[in-house]
Amino acid sequence: MNEVSVRPRETGVPAGWEAVIGLEVHVELSTASKMFCPCSTRFGAPPNSQVCPVCLGLPGVLPVPNRQAVELAVKAALALNCRVATYSKFDRKNYFYPDMPKNYQISQYDLPLAGDGYLEIPAGQGSKRVRIRRLHLEEDTGKSMHAADDIVTARYSLVDFNRAGIPLVEIVSEPDMSTPEEARLYLEKLKAIMQYCGVSDCRMEEGSLRCDINVSVRRPGQEAGTRTEIKNVNSFRGVERALAYEIARQVEVLESGGEVEQETRHWDEGAGRTHTLRTKEYAHDYRYFPDPDLPPLVLDPAWIEEIRRSLPELPDARRERYIREFGLPPYDAAVITASRALAEFFEETVRVYPQPKTVSNWVMGEVRRYLNESGLEPEEIPLQPAALAELLAMVERGAINMRVAKQVFTEMCQTGRLAPEIVREKGLEQVSDEALIERAVEEAIAANPAVVADYRKGREKALGFLVGQVMKATRGKANPQVVNRLLRDRLGLPGTEGV
Ligand SMILES: [Zn+2]
Repeated sequence: MNEVSVRPRETGVPAGWEAVIGLEVHVELSTASKMFCPCSTRFGAPPNSQVCPVCLGLPGVLPVPNRQAVELAVKAALALNCRVATYSKFDRKNYFYPDMPKNYQISQYDLPLAGDGYLEIPAGQGSKRVRIRRLHLEEDTGKSMHAADDIVTARYSLVDFNRAGIPLVEIVSEPDMSTPEEARLYLEKLKAIMQYCGVSDCRMEEGSLRCDINVSVRRPGQEAGTRTEIKNVNSFRGVERALAYEIARQVEVLESGGEVEQETRHWDEGAGRTHTLRTKEYAHDYRYFPDPDLPPLVLDPAWIEEIRRSLPELPDARRERYIREFGLPPYDAAVITASRALAEFFEETVRVYPQPKTVSNWVMGEVRRYLNESGLEPEEIPLQPAALAELLAMVERGAINMRVAKQVFTEMCQTGRLAPEIVREKGLEQVSDEALIERAVEEAIAANPAVVADYRKGREKALGFLVGQVMKATRGKANPQVVNRLLRDRLGLPGTEGV
């Protein structure tokens, strides 16, 4: 197979073409036990330590639906503006695969739990609505591990059934997205909503949020072409990259006179490309039929309403409130509310230190930087909101300068210690003593005559260098305002030499 050479535009879609994208997202529900048996769902347990005759599909056992799973699925559906069916049923989806102990998966086919919903993604100055076709309950499969890099060359494979039977919802969108970026935004929004309502922890690296992509391309105004499916993409960036690659590949096939084949493809994150996994199975290949062991799922409308009333404030509502209540710019509000944990950390900090814009700058800047660099999730911020508030208050009353504050922040995260303690111990208090700063200013001027001359010729930038020298001489602790003022006093206005 050849690498594609068609270059996508910035949107990820080559000029003269349109992409039609739909996503199928599997979300593992945060239940304590599995969908149809009492086995634990804890992640990371030794292989096959959380299994029983029911989830192993041994003969003579009966599945019993998990009420908590149904409740979480209804919650997810309502948060996505879906209509919840008071009557749905479980079906058997039959296929033969080693990670399927029963040779069928319990799922929902023609009568799903919910459908007809939508969510909004950011688009330009406004938003775009992506419709949700259906949301249904099913059980997860086990997990195979191959004793090589891939299944073809493996000498043997091992199967862990701990995951078999964990409850999932599958959320199927309409093909309403038209760029890789929109697909990523959809997935981010979906994840945020699921986390907000406590339906799932959505840890992509643990597989609790997984995404299959359907994509086809067409000339504007024409009917959609043949689509391919990309299986199990497990990062936001992966979704965007896999789509850009696959769209370019399809366009190249069509532009060179070929035909796109309907097939399932695999996204190879390392190689940055998709390749054929198998040609498409059709729904009838699964020989769906109603599960004879499970009665239809009949829900009391009053219970559905009760769940609706229990929904928390969702990301869009919270974003609007941050703009209204805290006066945050829409951009800040969107970034912070994209994660429930980040939003809660922000609000807690503002409660103790009521300067929303300052807190927002720190959350969007230093907090997110630290999370990125240390590979932590927002739920794992190693700092109490009150501790950040204390640090910000120290900056405000001039006890430390901003530069030192950032350094102290990192140390607080790393050691769990509090700002005043770190500042005291390391002697980081801001120096505002003018006599002391003045000495450093004079030294900097004396040591850098060329820079001073530059500044006097009108190069305002030269001042920055001198400020840097003074900060260095005071080990970063000088009050920057005082340094600036004293330097300007000594040097006069730029461009005034010889006047
Ligand atoms: Zn079990």
